[in-house]
Formats: sequence, structure tokens, C-alpha cells
Amino acid sequence: MKTSFYQYSFEGLANLLNENNLASSGATLLYNWHYKQKKIDECTHNLAHSTQAFIRDNLSFILPKIVETHQAEDQTVKFLIELEDGEKVETVLIAFQNKYTICLSTQVGCAMKCSFCFTGTQGLKRHLKTEEIIGQFIIADRWLKENRPNDQQLKNIVFMGQGEPLHNFDAVKTACEIFLDQHGTSIGIQKITVSTAGYLPGLMRWNAEMPGVNIALSFHSPFEEKRNKLIPINQRYPLGEVLKYLDSIPLKRKQYIIYEYLLIKNYNDTEVDAHATGTLLQSKQAIINLIPFNPFPGSEYERPEQVQVALFQNILKSYNLPALIRGTKGDDILAACGQLNTKNKL
Ligand code: SAH
Repeated sequence: MKTSFYQYSFEGLANLLNENNLASSGATLLYNWHYKQKKIDECTHNLAHSTQAFIRDNLSFILPKIVETHQAEDQTVKFLIELEDGEKVETVLIAFQNKYTICLSTQVGCAMKCSFCFTGTQGLKRHLKTEEIIGQFIIADRWLKENRPNDQQLKNIVFMGQGEPLHNFDAVKTACEIFLDQHGTSIGIQKITVSTAGYLPGLMRWNAEMPGVNIALSFHSPFEEKRNKLIPINQRYPLGEVLKYLDSIPLKRKQYIIYEYLLIKNYNDTEVDAHATGTLLQSKQAIINLIPFNPFPGSEYERPEQVQVALFQNILKSYNLPALIRGTKGDDILAACGQLNTKNKL
């Protein structure tokens, strides 16, 4: 059976060629052809005939398919993507002044069951494979070239789509290695961010295995009790423990850990919450992203008023914490945070 080209890290591909008595330099040519030059057709350029034959017989280049495209007024695009087995996930291109950040899914559904998240209502169907994560990037990138040729290339990646990336550690790790590789897309290490609900088994592997990309924590409350209700895995992996692991991540001088704070009206948006957050995070290399709750059909929470969000932000700033309010992108197409759900379609 053929294996997907898109599952191989550069090293993995070189090893594969080596094991089959082929020159490992073929990996450089292939990465260049498919990832740097973004060619769709077979790589023949400079590649030994024996390597070409091996690739034809053993590797597949099948990509997921875009089955629906929704374009928001703010240029954000949401794709519904069909995988080989018919499962579907969503990928979002978040537009910002002609530049795009791609928001990748890592699982079909999600096992975390966060009470504020639309995706969480589906439960976990399965993990995505590395090639399905890479595939989202490639097809979205091609879509951009074809449909918005004057816009800039895709250079920012956030693992903030459906799923808990650290629950699918191996696939996410290899995908990061592929994105970063200098022979291929060569995305900057500071341009990739993995967001986690605080999945400790994955966090415990971070320092030893992840290649230095940014990490974001869905923080949402400084209080264990309140966080338990929002993020049920907090009962098993409490915030206190999670923060200890995050503190152990070595950061470069201008590197920060991003703490995402979902603001829910009358639940975690009070001055008491803001001060407790400020106290807890003030000594850290932190950036706080405030995300006003995005409602979805049937959700039990409400979005706070803007003045409340501003007040919260100002309190955090008084602790010298950079606190940004994340603008809601693509909310008219249900592409905003926590609104990704392939079952309850638009
Ligand atoms: N599982 C990962 C990544 C997916 S969620 C994680 O938990 O971090 C990406 C971000 O969107 C998280 O910060 C999540 O808490 C937030 N989010 C989820 N549902 C939301 C909603 N309804 N409104 C606003 N933000 C939401």
C-alpha cells in the first residue's frame, strides 16, 4: 500500500529513500518541488529515474478536498474539508490586511468537551494524520493563489481549529517539523502557535520533543473551580500543574506564552477575575488574548458588553501585562473561535 508523501518529515523522507538504496538527496529535491515551489505534478526535475519509479510505486500525493467555501465580509474564509474516509473538518484562513493566518484542525471533533465550545459538542471521532494537517495548509494555500492572487502568502499557522493539538501530539509535532523545514515551506518558528486546553500528558512532552514553536494556553479563569466548569479536563489536569509545566518552557528573549482568556458575561469577566489573573500571570513572559465569547446555536453563555471587556483589559494592563482584545473574525460565517462544527452546518 502507498503511504502519503505528506506524512514524512525531511529526515523521515531521507531515511525512507536511504533504506531503499536510493540517494537521500532526493528528499531535498522533493521537498523543494512540492513544498517550496508548490508544484502539483510529479517531480522529475533532477531526480534519479530509480527514485522517480520508487515514488510512483510507493508514495501517494492525495490531498483532502474542499467541499464548501464560505467567505466572510472581512475576507476570512472557512473551508469544509473532506478527508479520504469521508470525515470532515474545517480550516479557516483568517485575513488581516492582505495577510493570512491559517487556523488548522487537528482532530475530527474533540474529546475535551469544553462547555463554551461548539466543536466540543461533537465528541472525538478520530485524530487527524500528519498528512491531513499538512493537506489543509496546501489546499488552502492553493485556493489563495487561485482566488486571491494579489494577496500575500500564507506565513502564519495557528493550531486553533477543531481538536486538541496536544492530544494528537505525534501528528502535530511532525506537521510542525515539516512546516519549519528549510528545504520546504520554511515557515518561521515564531510564526507557528499551538494552542492547548492544558492537556498535561502532551505538555509534559513539549520541552523534549516540540521544535520550539509558540504555545498558547486556553486559560479562561485563574480559579480552579470556575475553570473546571469551562474546561472539564481541568479536574484531571489542574491549572496549577499546567502553569508549572508552562513555566518550565525555555523562551527566547522576545518569545511569550499566549494566555487566551475567553470572556463570558457574568461568569469570568468581573474585576475580581481580572485582578486574580493579573496577580497570577504578572511575573510571566505572557501575552493575554482576550476573546469575547462567540455565541453559537444553543450555547448557554453570553458575550460581555464591550465596556466590560475594556475594563478587564485595563486591569490586566495595570499589572504590566500586554492584553489584546482579539477581534472576531469571520463570525458571519460561524468561523470564529469555538464555532467550528461540521455537524451543525450553516
Ligand atoms: N483545543 C485547543 C485549540 C482549539 S480552540 C485549545 O483549547 O486551545 C481555540 C481557541 O478558541 C481556544 O482558546 C478556545 O478556548 C477558544 N474558543 C472555543 N470556543 C469559543 C467560543 N465559543 N467563543 C470564543 N472562543 C472560543
